[in-house]
Amino acid sequence: MRLILLGPPGSGKGTQAQRLVQRHGIVQLSTGDMLRAAVAAQTPIGLKAKDIMAAGGLVPDEVVVGIIADRIEQPDAANGFILDGFPRTVPQAEALDALLKQKQMKLDAVIELRVNEGVLLERVERRAAETRARGEAVRADDTPEVLTKRLASYRDQTEPLIHYYSDHRMLATVDGMMPIEEVTEEIGRILAAVGKSGGSRAAKKASQAKRSPKASGKATPAKSAKKAAKKAPKAAAPVKKAGKTAKRAARTATKAAKAAPKKASKASKKAPKAAAKATGGTRKTSAKAPKKRAKR
Ligand code: AMP
Repeated sequence: MRLILLGPPGSGKGTQAQRLVQRHGIVQLSTGDMLRAAVAAQTPIGLKAKDIMAAGGLVPDEVVVGIIADRIEQPDAANGFILDGFPRTVPQAEALDALLKQKQMKLDAVIELRVNEGVLLERVERRAAETRARGEAVRADDTPEVLTKRLASYRDQTEPLIHYYSDHRMLATVDGMMPIEEVTEEIGRILAAVGKSGGSRAAKKASQAKRSPKASGKATPAKSAKKAAKKAPKAAAPVKKAGKTAKRAARTATKAAKAAPKKASKASKKAPKAAAKATGGTRKTSAKAPKKRAKR
């Protein structure tokens, strides 16, 4: 099983990854952990990454891609892996695609943990306090100031991956505001569906079965767009923020209308704007598309 966990700092990726490691006997590949180890060992990569990490920025794509390329070839990753904190940019995702293709490996799912931004500071502060209580060193970037920058990096550079994987029909979104146990169960349901069907449709169904609008901000159901997206799941586009991406969504929605059966086409014509906003590509939010991405 090969997975990606997507989500902002403090969304619970690390916690869920550890649970998946235990349950599925696969390895957690956290670029953050690997980079911190490199910083501690003062390797050339560590020296390069140290200041960037401390400031809440992103380490250059080629550095992290190189790390991952080496790591997924290790024997302990043969059974599968969870990528935690990678990819973080669209170029990293493209590099990963190329890498997996070259190694004839396939991703099974990309799971987004969606959370309200408001809770993240609290969660990260709690993580720092727990680390301190264990007598361990607190991460240099787990401070309110740096967290603000890390969140900005996430919004600007990592959130586009939600659309990237949605377009690739790989994305399942889980409400990361639920209790840890429930998040684990929901991820389990998604993976069971992927395992059974070997594909994304079943996971979409599993994920759609348990929707929670809480974490996804204001949901704006557009009935006709919903129908269009349902009838033309392949072509419907996910929600886009603005500018280029929004235009692309609109183009894809138009294609959806053309490609879909007549009824769907009619529905999307009735509400072209809404059709462009429908998250047809995502497994969870295909129907209840927020007007724009939830404020985190
Ligand atoms: P994390 O532990 O995932 O929060 O990562 C901690 C820090 O490591 C990030 O704030 C970045 O500076 C760096 N980092 C981790 N993964 C990546 C990545 N895939 N691309 C760029 N920088 C990364």
